[in-house]
Amino acid sequence: MVFATRDLTDRGGGGSATALGPLVDTFGRAVSYLRVSVTDRCDFRCVYCMSEHMTFLPKPDLLTLEELDRLCSAFINRGVRKLRLTGGEPLVRRDVMTLFRSLSRHLETGRLEELTVTTNGSQLARYAADLAACGVKRINVSIDTLDADKFRAITRWGDLGKVLDGVKAAQKAGIRVKINAVALKDVNEHEIGSMMEWAHGEGHDLSLIEVMPLGEVGAERVDQYLPLSRVREQLSERYTLIDIDYRTGGPARYMQVKETGGRLGFITPLTHNFCEGCNRVRVTCTGTLYMCLGQEDAADLRSPLRASPDDGVLQAAIDSAIFRKPKGHDFIIDRQTRQPAVHRHMSTTGG
Ligand code: SAM
Repeated sequence: MVFATRDLTDRGGGGSATALGPLVDTFGRAVSYLRVSVTDRCDFRCVYCMSEHMTFLPKPDLLTLEELDRLCSAFINRGVRKLRLTGGEPLVRRDVMTLFRSLSRHLETGRLEELTVTTNGSQLARYAADLAACGVKRINVSIDTLDADKFRAITRWGDLGKVLDGVKAAQKAGIRVKINAVALKDVNEHEIGSMMEWAHGEGHDLSLIEVMPLGEVGAERVDQYLPLSRVREQLSERYTLIDIDYRTGGPARYMQVKETGGRLGFITPLTHNFCEGCNRVRVTCTGTLYMCLGQEDAADLRSPLRASPDDGVLQAAIDSAIFRKPKGHDFIIDRQTRQPAVHRHMSTTGG
């Protein structure tokens, strides 16, 4: 690997906290997975994720790429083995490849098992080869429909053709692609079988996600929400779905589809709560640590990060936050519950 890049590790780069132990919460769950939202901005405005007119954070509030590197490295020093960069749209953050390149050093030492990304695919054709060169082996690409007009309607601004070109570029670069689709009542509900056949035909796993009540999006969640229990019933009329033990370290439960030979994952934050096995925490682009996607409690890591070039203060803040990691989330979507579970959008916390 040859990179002409500035070195993000010049300023700290992870400190010297190697003697500190792993992060284990009060329920005995070890935190081994960090998801980092590197920007709250996105070039799409998916109807279930954002409102059409979003106010984004002022740029000076964001952690610099150097600070993001230092923060990620601090978690890796505490036993985080899997790191996912997300957003907003991570690939629209200026110079984001510098961060990937820098973080890839932890793959080379073996301290990090996986560096990955969740993307809407809009910039993937441009970056796929660079991502592969940074050791990214698997990525998630969000595609909710294969109908170009519907895709534009869901994303408000997206171009399906460009995203599919990005998926092809990733495949060409040797990256495994998992397609993520949010199951949306009446929108892609009757297309899920054909999306699955397409994904499996192209060699991709497909994961379906239940819509979560995160942030005001200017629409009724109850009109969007499609329980995956219903999707399973509908798919079972045409396909043989066999539950399997395959896991990727996330909350998805997988099935093998006999007719296509592919894997189908269900992420069911509403119909089946999976918090007992939660191994993850999330950091926003301003350095706010959320110990649970569905709860408001958070810890500011930006101040301790900036307080000292040594990681001692930062590590103490991480410890005290992990101690408060809650047992789980309580999402409800029904006609009576009109408030979101939390006020922040998925794009803030990082999906
Ligand atoms: N821009 C990237 C993308 O599109 O994948 C990464 C960020 S996006 C917030 C991550 C994932 O969260 C996407 O798959 C998106 O569909 C999903 N998502 C956003 N809002 C959601 C919600 N309210 N409920 C469930 N999934 C949501």
